[in-house]
Amino acid sequence: MARGMLERYDVVDTDVLVIGAGGAGLRAAIEASKYNVDVTVVCKEMLGKAHTVMAEGGYNAALGNVDPRDDWKAHFMDTVEGGAWLNDQDLVEVFVKESPDRIFDLEEYGAAFDRTPDGKLAQRMFGKQRYPRTCHVSDYTGHELVAALVDEVRRRDIPVMEEVFISKLFKGNGRVAGALGIDIKSGEFLLFKCKAIVLAGGGAGRIYKITTNPASATGDGKILALEAGAELKDMEMFQFHPTAMVWPPSCRGILVTEAVRGEGGVLLNTKGERFMKRYHKLLELGPRDVVARSIMREVLEGRGTEHGGVYLSVTHLPPERIREKLKTMYRQFLLAGVDITKQPMEVAPAAHYYMGGVKQTVWGETSVKGLYVAGEEAAGLHGANRLGGNSIADTQVYGKRAGEAAARYARQAEKQLVDQRAVEEEQRRALSFLRSSETRPAKVKEAINETMWENAGIFRTEEGLKRALADLEAIKSKMIPEMGVSDQGSRRYNKEWIEALEAANMVRVAEILVRAALIRTESRGAHYRLDYPSTDNRSWLKHIVWYLDGGELKYRFEPVKITLAMPPGVS
Ligand code: FAD
Repeated sequence: MARGMLERYDVVDTDVLVIGAGGAGLRAAIEASKYNVDVTVVCKEMLGKAHTVMAEGGYNAALGNVDPRDDWKAHFMDTVEGGAWLNDQDLVEVFVKESPDRIFDLEEYGAAFDRTPDGKLAQRMFGKQRYPRTCHVSDYTGHELVAALVDEVRRRDIPVMEEVFISKLFKGNGRVAGALGIDIKSGEFLLFKCKAIVLAGGGAGRIYKITTNPASATGDGKILALEAGAELKDMEMFQFHPTAMVWPPSCRGILVTEAVRGEGGVLLNTKGERFMKRYHKLLELGPRDVVARSIMREVLEGRGTEHGGVYLSVTHLPPERIREKLKTMYRQFLLAGVDITKQPMEVAPAAHYYMGGVKQTVWGETSVKGLYVAGEEAAGLHGANRLGGNSIADTQVYGKRAGEAAARYARQAEKQLVDQRAVEEEQRRALSFLRSSETRPAKVKEAINETMWENAGIFRTEEGLKRALADLEAIKSKMIPEMGVSDQGSRRYNKEWIEALEAANMVRVAEILVRAALIRTESRGAHYRLDYPSTDNRSWLKHIVWYLDGGELKYRFEPVKITLAMPPGVS
């Protein structure tokens, strides 16, 4: 136990600190542990409950088991075309070449994927794929993946500190030195002293009102990285999944996996038309951004349901196939009173995946020495639109790489001193939210959600984005400084206190998203500007990169890395 001027804290000494226990964090920890360094994992929920556990439809690996024409080149082209050519192709090439080996690792850890009749890994069609490529465990693939990774972490005796919220990273001599956490269970501070950090904090879907993401997806990691001196990019690129539940209201936003369409599900408007015929040659399996916008157009033009959705039907498929291949969906809708073997599902888009995040190299390096990223925390691989099934594969490929790189770095690096004044400053900031106030974190989050959904969602305009920016600036300057919690006396399991810290991160993530969306005066992938509907490859094949300069948020442009395939119209 150490005592600062302000507050006491326990000190945890480790070589590599992994922040996040989803697919990316756990895979990074497993890899780092092979290099004879101390590894510690922290996560803000309980182990096994990270967002990855919710992944349903599957994992993309160009194995060619179902169609032998599939290979890494086909996977590469699908990924960059689907990503609207904003993907950094060096990241994509490594990803498509290594994702098959990483699924075999998962099998070694105990994951049991579905099989073809001849015993190979089964593969299903997902959106914007030319061949069936998505390996799966019915429609609860993430559950199996996390269970296998947790087992391997336990076999390796890697310590996992659950329910710890990291609020700040520290540097010494320009390199990673540690991090400050709050043990949610006791409300006490914890100071982590380490040589390297792998940041794998996941996405930020909770900045939107309607989202498939769990409550933990608040974008903390992106702000931790930015403040530590790393750069963020593609922050305007937020994917809206085409199909989430809309009814009953308590189910709004719960994902209806792309596997439903992969297994043959069709989208219908209230006139009974298979409307995707009008919008994309791949029909329901077009890229997610196109399908999501098509659904919204049907609704806006009066062909949607009374709850603002359209129908997704599998009633033409054999009921036993539905119950076998779409187990979770079958149960999920049955609980809402809908038997999907007989009745259509009602669906509409919801915020789903952040393509934007921390700028990384193919080894997960950031611009800060000792700081590595992986998974949904990072940017560059998925471009302007992620393909279904590419994310959990990403967590394994780049989780492994970031873990290895962090461990190799930690083996030769000196431990840096953490500046006591910086620790106290962060403690003071965190403690400031333990005050009485009418402005509660839930109210702040709701204000962020409303303006983001209304003004920075699927269809964007300069006018709407400016409205969002004004709202977010007001939230940042008025609501955040006033924000407080109902119970200021006890810090044990004071979840509202943690929510206050999350809300302070969310408003900053949302602000950068909106600023970037205003700057990108074209439409590309998930970023659709009604006032600039065309894709402009001449001027906009570039990333908007964000960084702090003396505390001030700044941006610059950086060209997309094109190594293997030229975008159409560009020579
Ligand atoms: P996460 O799994 O989100 O883990 C983040 C970790 O960081 C958590 O442990 C969290 O506690 C921790 N953390 C965050 N902030 C802090 C903090 N401040 N302090 C301490 N810890 C912190 N993708 C596919 O490829 N295929 C699919 O079939 C698929 N299905 C999906 C279904 C649903 C319903 C959803 C929502 C997503 C789906 N995705 C799918 C996307 C995919 O699941 C995620 O993108 C991926 O799992 C992200 O993994 P991750 O390891 O990067 O982050």
